[in-house]
Order: sequence, then structure tokens, then C-alpha cells
Amino acid sequence: MDNYKRVQEINKELKIDAVLISNGNNMRYVSGFAGETGYLYISDKHHMVITDFRYTYQAEMEAEGYEIVTIGSGGYEEAINDILRTDNVKGLGFESKDMLYSRYQDLMDKLNVDELIPINDEITRLRRIKTPKELDYIKQAESIGDKVFSEILTFIKPGMTELEVAARIEYLLKIHGGQSTSFPAIVASGVNSSMPHAVPTLKKIEDGDFLTMDFGCVYEGYCSDMTRTIVVGKASDKQKEIYKIVLEAQLAALDVLKAGLKGKDVDKVARDIIYKAGYEGCFGHGLGHSVGLFIHEDPRLSPSEEGIIEAGMIETVEPGIYVRGFGGVRIEDLVVVTEDGYENYTHSDKSLIEL
Ligand code: ZN
Ligand code: ZN
Repeated sequence: MDNYKRVQEINKELKIDAVLISNGNNMRYVSGFAGETGYLYISDKHHMVITDFRYTYQAEMEAEGYEIVTIGSGGYEEAINDILRTDNVKGLGFESKDMLYSRYQDLMDKLNVDELIPINDEITRLRRIKTPKELDYIKQAESIGDKVFSEILTFIKPGMTELEVAARIEYLLKIHGGQSTSFPAIVASGVNSSMPHAVPTLKKIEDGDFLTMDFGCVYEGYCSDMTRTIVVGKASDKQKEIYKIVLEAQLAALDVLKAGLKGKDVDKVARDIIYKAGYEGCFGHGLGHSVGLFIHEDPRLSPSEEGIIEAGMIETVEPGIYVRGFGGVRIEDLVVVTEDGYENYTHSDKSLIEL
């Protein structure tokens, strides 16, 4: 991978001699190294993985073309100091949104460098626009979700607990090729579905319950994310009404979505529909987020997102209405934005399913 060249450009722009990348997803994105511990060190002369013995072999396999440094008994500080000495570094950048304060203090104490310079999310921003290969991984991850959704519908019966359904979803995600879940599956029934990020409980699913299922898996390192809400049994008029508004809001947002818009403009389209229908105060989260190596990436679709949505970015579109003491609905698709619209990677049915 020669993404290190893009990092060298960033170093130049930020006027730093070298950068220490600590965010695991950034490390993986830039170098290919997917180990859990280590740093990437990138200067004009070097691009290097610094890790410990447990990951040396993996780093050699994954980070093609990189120098691999295994730390000794002097730890990371000694290994980094060795490099700084030969590389004549005065200002060393670090990822301020990732590094723990205690770690930063440690480096301040022990590194022989004039200045440790906090950099913001410049490296993370490299990951916003996906390559065709990344898009393919995300598409495959989402297609696993589609399979799981159709299979879980044949499994759910009144009397089962939310935890049983969540466990089954996570099992099926792996059976179909997901390496792990991209987050613990959300399964929320009845009044619990009024909590957008409910944790599955021992509550039994009852006839007439809304059932919201939000889940995803990781494929080749890349996450998927989808949500469907169904009714177990016959839907009431109020359930039908809420569902219809959420679906209308979702379709309207998808309808306008294309490259060049601000995240907040897309959010507003869905939000206006929900608020005008009388549910102001019942949709308290953003309309969507980007997805990649990490489940929640920027730019968002939210009331405060000034960022421009560009072609090749992944976004979820997931409006919801949550009525306290009653229940809630969320419908979430995952799409890639194109110049004149989007391609939807989620194919599961969005009409109201009554099981
Ligand atoms: Zn989700
Ligand atoms: Zn989501």
C-alpha cells in the first residue's frame, strides 16, 4: 500500500517532520497492518510499523514495503527514540483524538523531540472516500445482513426473549461469513423499541409488539449496518401510522441524496417529514453516518453536519420515531453515494412485515 505517500503530504501541509499514527483503523488503512498494538511512524524518509513480538510476523505479512521494528525491553519510547535520532525529527505529530492522555504524558517525558504536535482527524479523513475494493467488501458485508434478516424472520416466535433473537442474529452473521459483528446486535421489542440503542434483555416478545433489529457484521475488516422494524402479529393503526411516516421520511431522504449536498441538508428532508407529522421530539438522533473499517465514521447526516457528501462515501439512512411508553420504528439502509444519486447495498423488504 502506498497510502503512506498521502500521509507524507499531510505532514508537509501541517509542517511536521514525522507523524506517529496510533489509531488502529488508520494504521490498517495506511499500511495494511491489522494488529492490535503498535504505531505507524511516517516521515519523509521512513514508513515503519513499530510493534511488539506478538505482531512482528503479522506486520511483515500485511504491511508490504514497510520497515518493521519490534520493540525491545526499552519499550516503545526507546524504539521511537532510536528512529528520531537518525531521522533528525524536531516536531512529531500524534493523533490527539486517539491517544490517551497518560500515554501522551509518557511520550512527553521520554521522547527526545522538541515538540509533540497534536493533529486532528487529518489521517482519519483519508478514509472517507472508499476505493472500489473497499466498497466491494462493504457491499458483501451488507449482503450477509440481508440473508440474516430473511432467515431470522422464520425464527422469531412470540414467547422468545430479545436475547435469543439477538444471539441467533449474531450466530447467523458468522455462519454466512461475517468475521465478527460490527457492534452487538440491537433487538428491542414492544416498549423497549422506543429506546434507539436498546440492549437486548430477557423480555419475552409478545403478540402485537414492534420488534426493531439493528445489526451488522465485519467482512475483510469492513463493517455493515442495517435496521428493520417488524410487528410480531397484527399491526395496530397507530403502529401502521408511525411506520408509514418513518418509511416516507427515509424514502424522501434517499430521493434527494447525491454528491455535493451537506450532511445537514439530507438530514433535514427526513426530519421535516417526521416533525410535520407531529412527532417532533421523537427523532433525537442524526439521520445517518458513514461506515468503513469503523462502524460510525464521518461525515454524518445530521443537523450539525456541515461536511459535503461526496461520491464514493458510504452513508446509512436511518430515520426513526420513538414514542416513550409505546414503542419505536427505525428503518436503516446502507448506501454508497454517487454523483447523481446513490446505490443501495441493502435489499431487505421495507414494507411493514406482520409476522
Ligand atoms: Zn444500525
Ligand atoms: Zn447505523
